[in-house]
Amino acid sequence: MSRLLSTTLQALRPYVPGEQPREPIRLKLNTNENPYGPSPKVLAAIQQATSEDLRLYPDPTAMKLRQSIAAYYELSPDQVFVGNGSDEVLGHLFQALFQRPGVVLLPDISYSFYDTYSALYDVTPHHIPLDDHLAIQADDYCHYDASPVAGIIFANPNAPTGLSLTLDDIARIARAHPDAAVVVDEAYVDFGADSAVALLGDYDNIVVVQTLSKSRALAGLRVGFALASPLIVEALTRVKDSFNSYPLDQLALVAAQAAMEDTAYFEEICRRIISDRNELSRQLAALGFTVLSSDTNFLFCRPPNGQAQALAQRLRQHGILVRHFNHARIQSYLRITVGTSQGCKALCNALQQILSSELS
Ligand code: PMP
Repeated sequence: MSRLLSTTLQALRPYVPGEQPREPIRLKLNTNENPYGPSPKVLAAIQQATSEDLRLYPDPTAMKLRQSIAAYYELSPDQVFVGNGSDEVLGHLFQALFQRPGVVLLPDISYSFYDTYSALYDVTPHHIPLDDHLAIQADDYCHYDASPVAGIIFANPNAPTGLSLTLDDIARIARAHPDAAVVVDEAYVDFGADSAVALLGDYDNIVVVQTLSKSRALAGLRVGFALASPLIVEALTRVKDSFNSYPLDQLALVAAQAAMEDTAYFEEICRRIISDRNELSRQLAALGFTVLSSDTNFLFCRPPNGQAQALAQRLRQHGILVRHFNHARIQSYLRITVGTSQGCKALCNALQQILSSELS
């Protein structure tokens, strides 16, 4: 490490994304990408926008895209903020809303980028343990009063567990801490949970964050957004305009707009993934796995002998990548992305072979 590093960076542990392998891999089920391609209308929009106009800067306000997102959720564009992936939007939220006296409440097991941003932005995290069934208990957040609360953040559905809170739970948390922003990261919401967008009219401290990476099959495009009160969107815009005025390029703007407007395609691929997830859950249970119920495009499951890391390595020998987390409470679990139905079958065949060879 260079002796020239800032003190913040010396202490920082950067987020470690799931592996993007260099060698061709048969089944990539480790980073919750969509097994289907983006809408054909997205590809057509990119082709059409690939022109000499790329010499011009993109619209710094991303107005057309924000109008499309607003129309989809029946909000107004001044309630929509867009960024270069929801990771960037989350980072701006930490800076805009959490950098103040007090602690930020978050689950002990959730998306680990929240801890990285806490360290980067000098925010003090206070981890609240999931219950024994790995679920978030809303009451633990409502009743927390040991120190001032600067903010609250959790994923809903949570990652990597796949379990959701109800809107009633989220509303109770927002009511219990009216002077703290409650950030609800809905990266996976389209696969089965209720969106807290429905609460925005009643709670000006709720911020919903979503991404086009999962349900709209555009992880490679890097587009995410926040939905919140106009004042919070204004705060986020102040951060953006002090950092990078053009986080979304011209191609990303038109492609994301086409994705938001092609609701038929989006609904169809979500429907298929939900149906394949439910079938895969049954298959894994039949193989002896403990499978948490899931409102996402992945399953969080414990193999029969609890040797999750070893199983991930065996799957890799079969050309299948899944995700294992080295966190004490969940190290006997694997997170497996739901692929196509063919992919799910190939996974189950490999698991059957591995488990039966272990028994023999
Ligand atoms: N939130 C959660 C819970 C996630 O799992 C991810 C994906 N790693 C993200 C946010 C970030 O997604 P993106 O930056 O691709 O929008």
